[in-house]
Formats: sequence, C-alpha cells, structure tokens
Amino acid sequence: MSDAIAQSVIRNVVIIGSGPAGYTAAIYAGRANLSPMVFEGFQKRGIPGGQLMTTTEVENFPGFPNGIMGPQLMMHMKEQAVNCGAELIMEDVVAVDFSERPFTITSTSHSVQAHSVIIATGATAKRLHLPSEEQYWNRGISACAVCDGAAPIFRGVELAVVGGGDTAVEEAVFLTKYGSKVHLLVRSDRLRASKVMQQRIFNHPKIAVHWHSLPIDVYGEGIVQGVKIRDTITNAERDLAVGGLFYAIGHTPNTELFAGQIELDATGYIVTKGKSTATNIEGVYACGDVQDHEYRQAVTAAGTGCMAALEAERWLSAKIPF
Ligand SMILES: Cc1cc2nc3c(=O)[nH]c(=O)nc-3n(C[C@H](O)[C@H](O)[C@H](O)COP(=O)(O)OP(=O)(O)OC[C@H]3O[C@@H](n4cnc5c(N)ncnc54)[C@H](O)[C@@H]3O)c2cc1C
Repeated sequence: MSDAIAQSVIRNVVIIGSGPAGYTAAIYAGRANLSPMVFEGFQKRGIPGGQLMTTTEVENFPGFPNGIMGPQLMMHMKEQAVNCGAELIMEDVVAVDFSERPFTITSTSHSVQAHSVIIATGATAKRLHLPSEEQYWNRGISACAVCDGAAPIFRGVELAVVGGGDTAVEEAVFLTKYGSKVHLLVRSDRLRASKVMQQRIFNHPKIAVHWHSLPIDVYGEGIVQGVKIRDTITNAERDLAVGGLFYAIGHTPNTELFAGQIELDATGYIVTKGKSTATNIEGVYACGDVQDHEYRQAVTAAGTGCMAALEAERWLSAKIPF
C-alpha cells in the first residue's frame, strides 16, 4: 500500500508549493542533503510552477539580461531542484496536521510524515472576471504593474488601474513612468489608501481619478484598446480608450489549508517571526507570497525560499540528528 510505504519514512522536510519560493527552498534543501519532497500542486490555488506560469516575459529576474519567458524560468528552477536531489510530486496537498510531531501532510494520493515543513503556496491575484478577461490576459490586462508596466505595449499610451487601496495608488503612480496618462478607476466615492498616498495622486499631473467607475469589460483588436465602464450610481456605461488595464484589487493568500493550525494575520497571510521565515510552530517555515503582502516578486519569493531552507536545515541539525 503506497500510503503505508510513504508513512514508514519520516521526511526531513516537505515543501508545499512550486513557485520561485518552493523550488528555491528545494534547491537549497537538496544541496544540504535533506532529500526534500515537494508537493508542486496541481490545480488547487495555482498551478505547478506558480504564478509565473501565467505570464509571458519576465524582465526583472536577475541573470537574464534580455528577459526570459515566465514558464521557461520556472522549468529551469524545476530542473535545478531535481538536479539538486528534490523529489517532486505533482499533487495538491489537501490536509496538514501540525498538532503532533512528526507532522503529517496529506495530498490527493499520499500521506507523508515530516520533521519540518516549508509552506510556499503563494497568493492569488484577485480578478474582476470580465467577460473578455481570458482573451486579453497578458494582452493588455495585467495583475502586476511592477512586473509588466515597462512592457512595450504600455509605453506612451493611456493606462487604467482599477482599485482604491494603497496598492492601486502605488501602481497608478508607478505607471506614470511609462503611460502618457493613468486613469484610476474607483468603485465608490473614496479611496481606502492612506492620506499620504492619496495626496500623491490628487497632485499628480498625469493621474485622473474616476469615482463610481466599475470596469465591466475591455475591447480592442487583439490587444486592449479600451475599457467599458459602468457608473455605479447611474448605471450609465461609457468607453475609456486605454492601452492597458491593471488590476490592483488585492490578493488572496493560499492559506485556507493552514487556518486554525498556524498563526495568520487579519488578511490571511502567514505570520513569520522578525526577519526569519519561522512561523509560530517550531519546524514550520513560510516563504514567498504566502507570507509577503508587500513585495510580491519572484526574486523576493526565491530569496525567502532560500532563507526557509537554511533555517529548516539549522533547526533540523539542532533537533533531529540526520
Ligand atoms: C501575471 C503575473 C505576472 C507576474 N510577473 C512578474 C514579473 O515579471 N517579475 C516578478 O518578479 N514577479 C512577477 N509576478 C509575481 C510573481 O509571480 C510572484 O511574486 C511569485 O510567483 C511568488 O512566488 P511564490 O513561490 O511565493 O508563489 P507562487 O508563484 O504563487 O506559487 C505557489 C505555488 O503553490 C502551489 N500550491 C498552492 N496551493 C497548494 C496546495 N494546496 N498544495 C500544493 N501546492 C499548492 C501552486 O500550485 C504554486 O505552484 C507576476 C505575477 C503574476 C500573476
């Protein structure tokens, strides 16, 4: 029985998630002879390889002077993780038990025990689910201004950002470096962003704020050339000609699996201690977007993946002889 076999070996470290954080943790844990097992995920809350599998050119990951396609970057990381000794399982984890040691991690067809666990399940950018969203995703619709704003299609054209919080305001300001004008589409009559951030956009000559404005679709010949907007008071609809629509309506950390077992903040992100990736449970570490609502970049996810593996290794060598 495969479950029994899997359970008879207690793993040093199990990594949950296969984005830049998970694969980097696997590379470091593999090189440290920890024989890591990685649950890459399958379809629950992301896909194997993580968020970069859904994008095209990545221009800001160090080491690729001419950029690299997101899926290609992730294939390289995966290959490197395997070469360093990681065992990959392309399944979703469906349950964890951190109440007893060794910990138990259950996926769709495995149940394994581990002394330590690295959580790297990422976060999911919220979408508007516009009727034409799939068609125009990466063709003018983006969920990350910092990642995509410098792309040629967004340079010198008018752009729109949807959202009303700090992220939306920050992204609008950021995009003024590339777009000729930035329209901030706000559903209500006020911003949730801090007063300081609000001042930055009200005084900005390249930003126009549109109150009571809800995007209901995009249009264009192959790429976004405009957004259809509905007035949330009058229901009147209008077109706004822009070359890009950036979603800044928040992210959902993929932590429902851990709720009640590990400390989460008010918005559902895993709480890590100080500058480390340690959680409130000794031997459980969290890295990447699942514990980072601020930077949310591939390189920061990879950086914390490295930290998690090093911290797990130190903890294991102090507590569990191997
Ligand atoms: C469209 C887009 C473009 C982007 N472009 C860039 C860019 O150009 N540059 C940049 O630096 N950043 C970019 N980002 C941000 C970057 O992708 C993220 O910061 C980064 O991927 C976070 O890495 P992560 O490893 O923490 O999580 P993710 O990449 O989100 O990976 C999470 C992993 O966890 C897995 N998982 C989730 N739940 C489970 C479960 N229950 N069991 C097993 N596995 C599970 C998923 O399948 C996935 O493999 C972009 C993001 C998006 C959405």
